[in-house]
Amino acid sequence: MIDIRTKRMVKTRKEHTCFGCTETIEKGKSAVSCNAKQDDQHMNFHLHEECNKTIVKDNWFSGSGLYYGCIKDTKKTIEDVKNIKFSPDEALPFNMMKFTRAEV
Ligand SMILES: [Zn+2]
Repeated sequence: MIDIRTKRMVKTRKEHTCFGCTETIEKGKSAVSCNAKQDDQHMNFHLHEECNKTIVKDNWFSGSGLYYGCIKDTKKTIEDVKNIKFSPDEALPFNMMKFTRAEV
C-alpha cells in the first residue's frame, strides 16, 4: 500500500508521467508532486491536478486502491458503468462511484 506523506503544488519543468492516469503531464503545467512510502521504500511521483482531486475526494484511493494507473482503470470502469441505463435517482455521480467500487 502506498502512503502519501507530503504533497505540494509544482510547476513542472519537464514532462512527467501522471501516477494516477499514466498520461503525460506537460512541461510548465501545474501538477502535484508527491512523496510517498511503500513497503518502507520512498517514492516520488507526480499527479495531474485533476487526478490529485480525484484521489483526495475518494477515500478508496488512500488505501490499497492507490497504485500506478489506478485512475485510468477507474475511469474505464466508470465509462462502462455509464453505458448502463440508470433511473434518475441512481444516476447521481456519488451513487455511481459507490456502485463502481462495489463491483471492483
Ligand atoms: Zn493524471
